[in-house]
Amino acid sequence: MKKTVLVSGGAGFIGSHVSVELIQAGYDVVVADNLSNCDMTGYEGVCKITGRDDIPFVKTDFCSEEQTEALFSAYKIDAVIHFAAFKAVGESVAKPVMYYKNNLSSFLNVLEAASAHGCHNVLFSSSATVYGEPDKVPVTEESPRKPATSPYGNTKQMCEDILNDTVRATAGTEGEIKGILLRYFNPIGAHPSALIGELPRGIPNNLVPFITQTAIGRRECLSIFGNDYPTPDGTCLRDYIDIVDLAKAHVCAVARMLDGKMDKPCEVFNIGTGRPVSVLELVNSFEKVNHLKLNYKFAPRRDGDVTAIWADPTLANKVLGWKAERSVDETLAAAWAWEKHLAGK
Ligand code: UDP
Repeated sequence: MKKTVLVSGGAGFIGSHVSVELIQAGYDVVVADNLSNCDMTGYEGVCKITGRDDIPFVKTDFCSEEQTEALFSAYKIDAVIHFAAFKAVGESVAKPVMYYKNNLSSFLNVLEAASAHGCHNVLFSSSATVYGEPDKVPVTEESPRKPATSPYGNTKQMCEDILNDTVRATAGTEGEIKGILLRYFNPIGAHPSALIGELPRGIPNNLVPFITQTAIGRRECLSIFGNDYPTPDGTCLRDYIDIVDLAKAHVCAVARMLDGKMDKPCEVFNIGTGRPVSVLELVNSFEKVNHLKLNYKFAPRRDGDVTAIWADPTLANKVLGWKAERSVDETLAAAWAWEKHLAGK
């Protein structure tokens, strides 16, 4: 029997790539999204890449108990991967209530419905933001979580706690929930088909969409936020992880849950490459691999940015049997192909 995975927020950047990998790995997928931060491009791309015209798409607002409940009643869901959330750090500082309301209530509704409908497996998309400014790099899953510096980051920590508490409370009951928390580092790039990728609305907050939009001429100049950090070239260090590699980690995690292979009822994995890359190195790689010059300037530091963070991915490598495979160059070539696809070039 094929297992069915519900992907909440499945039309978005990460959700669409994960849906593709799940389908290609042989799972049935239900894509659900309220389309508040994307359009149908992501879902349509999933259908095209997989060559399928029978993938259910359900327009669902997970903040609605009724809609969430209706979805779980309509489909027999074996596992849910929860992406549906707001994700702009700056906006979360300006609109905390909106962020807490959306990100918490949607997850609570998913947990309640999953538990009530005998869906025992919940994978939550968390973030390296929970580590804050780490005392030691690379960070392992044992590294302490630091107080969140934004409501967005706080919602990630709170949802991690909510899942942990729910797993504990439901253990051995009919509505038992097992959980996996995947802490993503910096997902970048696009599917090699250039049919799905990141589609930021308005001015991008993240580095790579800003780079590709500058290169295509939609933005005049990239500002590199800070070149006086205590790092080799003065710019921040991050762990940029290819979106397809990241998506594959979800397939490994879902298989682990559905095959009953978990060691603990709630497991945590860092999903990163283990490779620190500076902002300047990333810009240089983008220029080199795509044979172009990027207009950039150094600008003051951005509030809330940590100096350096990258993953120790050993646990995911060993336990999930997953490893990031694509090079930064390949990923930046894919990001550029996607931007050109968007521009019709
Ligand atoms: N960054 C930058 N210019 C931009 C956007 C980002 O210099 O227009 C830098 C940012 O300061 C950080 C890195 O790029 O050091 C990654 O930022 P992003 O927002 O992509 O992810 P974050 O690590 O903040 O989650």
